Amino acid sequence: MVPAAHFDGRRYVCVQVDCEEDGPHPVWRLWQDRASTDPATVSSWYRLFSFAVALATGVVFDVLELPESAAIRVQAALTEAGHTTPVAVWRERECRLFWTRPGLDPAAVTVPGARVRGAGNWVPAPPTPTRRGAVQWAVSPEQAEWQPVEPAALIAALALAGVAGDAVR
Ligand SMILES: [Zn+2]
Repeated sequence: MVPAAHFDGRRYVCVQVDCEEDGPHPVWRLWQDRASTDPATVSSWYRLFSFAVALATGVVFDVLELPESAAIRVQAALTEAGHTTPVAVWRERECRLFWTRPGLDPAAVTVPGARVRGAGNWVPAPPTPTRRGAVQWAVSPEQAEWQPVEPAALIAALALAGVAGDAVR
């Protein structure tokens, strides 16, 4: 994980004085080499700052970002197929984040407005505060027994939900 810019009620606060990014984002520009899961390192960040938390993607899991309307149908399709995976609602971007095991191929995702967050990317961890409320779990990791679905199962759910378009993004 990596500390993320904190919404102070007016704007997003990070460590860069010239930063104009309006939304949760890692506090450092070159954050990849500083991401850590070491409890001592992580607690030292939060002793110094009151930052939100971003999770690095592409290592333990990938994340598929889907626009809200498609996301609701895909979540239902996953349930129908007997799969559960952690899903977070990021209201500020009007999207939901679906956790999968690493290896989700962006070329296999043809849903308009979808975005695959894999190696070198990140997602805000619930309950990171945003301008439109905290990022929240729709399906918590506990409910999913800490097991993200296989990428193939998520791709199958996109087809089952009928949300896959022609345009490859
Ligand atoms: Zn910033």
